[in-house]
Amino acid sequence: MAISKKISEFMDQSSWIRRMFEEGIRLKREHGEENVFDLSLGNPVVEPPGALKQALVEAAQDPSPGRHRYMPNAGYPEVRAAVAEALAPECKIELTANDVVMTCGAAGGLNIALKAILDPGDEVLVFTPYFVEYLFYVDNHGGKAVPVGTYDDFTLNFKKLAAAFTRRTKAVIINSPNNPTGVVYSPASIQELANLLKAQSEKQGRAIYLISDDPYKKIVFDGVETPNICRYYDHSIYISSHSKDLAVPGERIGFVVVHPRCEDGENLMAGLVFCNRVLGFVNAPALIQRAVQKVQHVTVNVEDYQRKRDFLYEELSQMGYSVVRPQGAFYLFPQSPLADEVEFVRLLATHRVLAVPGRGFGLPGYFRLSYCVPDAVIEGAIPGFEKALRSANIK
Ligand code: PLP
Repeated sequence: MAISKKISEFMDQSSWIRRMFEEGIRLKREHGEENVFDLSLGNPVVEPPGALKQALVEAAQDPSPGRHRYMPNAGYPEVRAAVAEALAPECKIELTANDVVMTCGAAGGLNIALKAILDPGDEVLVFTPYFVEYLFYVDNHGGKAVPVGTYDDFTLNFKKLAAAFTRRTKAVIINSPNNPTGVVYSPASIQELANLLKAQSEKQGRAIYLISDDPYKKIVFDGVETPNICRYYDHSIYISSHSKDLAVPGERIGFVVVHPRCEDGENLMAGLVFCNRVLGFVNAPALIQRAVQKVQHVTVNVEDYQRKRDFLYEELSQMGYSVVRPQGAFYLFPQSPLADEVEFVRLLATHRVLAVPGRGFGLPGYFRLSYCVPDAVIEGAIPGFEKALRSANIK
């Protein structure tokens, strides 16, 4: 075989979403596009806000010379300053352009951060269920991702976390609002996490980094607070993007913020910039950087997502599904009515509803639904959910 055994195995491990995608194509061909209800993909259907499109047009039409040349690898200083200014109030610290690196999405941000901090064999703690790419990103840079369980409501289990630290633990990754559960960690839980990390850092005699991967930060419901980690912990690496809040995942724009009091922070910033370069990103794309500089306070219509959440959550709960009510992002993570959730996902597919098995996120027994799809798809899926539940209960 030409490709490496490792990548071959990783591809197999991460293939659940792709398998559902392929199943969707087959079902759509057989039954017609409008008769298949695909809740498997996290690709937002909403269009970017008008202000962003306008800013993109203006950036493209700017006649100044040099707009498309190489730039500092960290990104344009004025764009970094705009991100710092927008974030400083929620971080309750002073932030400047020097604390920000513009990246190719949150994915680019995670990769440069992990490359900059990991030595071979270093461990990174991730909470189950997790965004599966964390496993591969950590491996990309020679580290080992160590899964840590959460409570039944998917909140952080500090007992399990405390037991997971070793001398090799370099960082902890959190993601709130969470993909796949939609759970938002409370200020009290972030405080407790910070306290635990401070104690562990003291014990190890070096900083353990807290990485917060928060591309859904602005997609929250019912006025819930999404505390920024920089407010609670000095050794924080805050990563976000505009893939979801401005609905431009194809444009690849995000950023990393390093807490100004982070241990070895200056070196870390220099490392991030170096890694942006040598991982081949070089810098975040120029045009979209210029555009997001102007719309740091703009967000897609979150009420639309909240309405979809309310509808789907209420319908599923009333039918008898056991599901935690999400407070953000655009996912639901119900418990599978069958012990084997792959079997249940297959049952749903026979009713032309597509979901992703929980084992694709490190937690079998559940399945993920994405409701960032048109209302007609969500509404059309309801009879399928009912029939599949009925069949599962008979089994
Ligand atoms: N982190 C999480 C939890 C995600 O769900 C995603 C995308 O779905 C990403 C990171 C990657 O986001 P980006 O498109 O900004 O790279």
